[in-house]
Amino acid sequence: MLRLYNTLTNAKEELKTVEEGVVRLYTCGPTVYDYAHIGNFRTFVFQDLLRRYLRFRGYRVIHVMNITDVDDRIIQNAREQGMSLEEYTAKYTAAFIEDSRTLRIELPELMPRATDHIPEMVALIKKLEANGYAYRRDGSIYFNISRFPGYGRLSKTDFRGIQTGARVDTDKYDKENARDFALWKAAKKGEVFWETEIGPGRPGWHIECSAMSMKYLGETFDIHCGGADLVFPHHENEIAQSEGATGKPFVRLWLHSEFLIVDGEKMSKSLGNQFTLRDILAGGHSPEAIRYLLLSSHYRKQLNFTADGLRQAQASIQRLEDFLQRMSEVAVEEAPRPDFAEAVAGARRDLVEAMDDDLNTSAALAVVYDFIRSTYQRMDQQELGGGDANAAIEFVRDLDGIFAVLPPEAELVDDEILRKIEERSEARKRRDFAESDRIRDWLLAKGIRLEDTREGTRWKRVRSRT
Ligand code: AMP
Ligand code: ZN
Repeated sequence: MLRLYNTLTNAKEELKTVEEGVVRLYTCGPTVYDYAHIGNFRTFVFQDLLRRYLRFRGYRVIHVMNITDVDDRIIQNAREQGMSLEEYTAKYTAAFIEDSRTLRIELPELMPRATDHIPEMVALIKKLEANGYAYRRDGSIYFNISRFPGYGRLSKTDFRGIQTGARVDTDKYDKENARDFALWKAAKKGEVFWETEIGPGRPGWHIECSAMSMKYLGETFDIHCGGADLVFPHHENEIAQSEGATGKPFVRLWLHSEFLIVDGEKMSKSLGNQFTLRDILAGGHSPEAIRYLLLSSHYRKQLNFTADGLRQAQASIQRLEDFLQRMSEVAVEEAPRPDFAEAVAGARRDLVEAMDDDLNTSAALAVVYDFIRSTYQRMDQQELGGGDANAAIEFVRDLDGIFAVLPPEAELVDDEILRKIEERSEARKRRDFAESDRIRDWLLAKGIRLEDTREGTRWKRVRSRT
């Protein structure tokens, strides 16, 4: 039974989906005014883990992530650089997708852009006006938080008695400054605006997520995620806007990932302590090590990001790769022995139990390292058969379907294999044995074992890809 920690109830809850077997997931996407930093990617890598695990557990996942391509900073930066909004945001949207691919983050099924959904936002604001939750001031439209009794439920804040009628126009603010927030901002001179039924202007940040999530996932959907800084005001406001418009519960489970920190402080652009993915790769670290470090501690704990942590992550990946290599050397495609099959099934159960407990990745990894240790022991005692090694590889590969930190197994076609064998025999002729071993190991990692015989080099597929 998969249980996830719901910020709304402060408890781990069983996932019960609106539609059997399908998870509808919304995650707040990047504001494309600059490169995303590695703190942002902690959140996005966590969300990738969630979707991979949901699929591992047999769900079909429909995942929507918005691209915030209009906000105060974007407007300002685009203007400073003499660019249109589209030109400016296209660059950072492309960079975000490229960085996500580098980190093996699967792209969501849908990535709608805010600027393509102005009519949906306008329709939602009109509904809020009709339902008595919104009012106009100087061409802008605000949400009246005193009209929505549930305001504060997500962030566990009691807003009774706060000054009513005070307004805030910026999209980001803290609880102390809780005010009626802008749904629609009146057009300002020199700023981009849309001519609409509710007047000329542009949307506030919060309304885009309500409009796009409900458009693609329905008025009530299963899971909504974001970093911990989005609980207030962004998600609190999303609930108020969505439920104020529909009268139905908006989201079943709210999941929030904790911050990535550097020297005890949240990584953020405003603190000037941020690194982009590109900075860290330039420092010689691998995308896999970054991903491993981001995933190896629990998502609800703060994560201190250090070079030392990255080195340890790389060493852990190496342990997994060494294990696969050792197993490949002896694996044959046949059934494992019954006792080993039972050991694998037990490890798999423990892995699922750990992940089912609110995605406890560190416990899941511990299960795998225990399994590796005991498998090596069997090997040392000459009790590991070829079919057992094959089953062991499959187990580690399954884990990697969730974690995605190992080099992917690419199915090589025969021609490629023959070309590599040719390259290797040429290396051997030059007495470049380091290169020849490298080619042999590379093939082995891809499931192709070479055998040098008097008649020449033969090859064999150790196991087929599932
Ligand atoms: P933004 O592009 O600022 O809207 O942020 C994108 C995502 O990154 C949001 O879900 C934020 O909550 C998250 N985020 C921002 N800073 C951090 C951090 N230091 N650690 C983890 N997540 C963060
Ligand atoms: Zn959002």
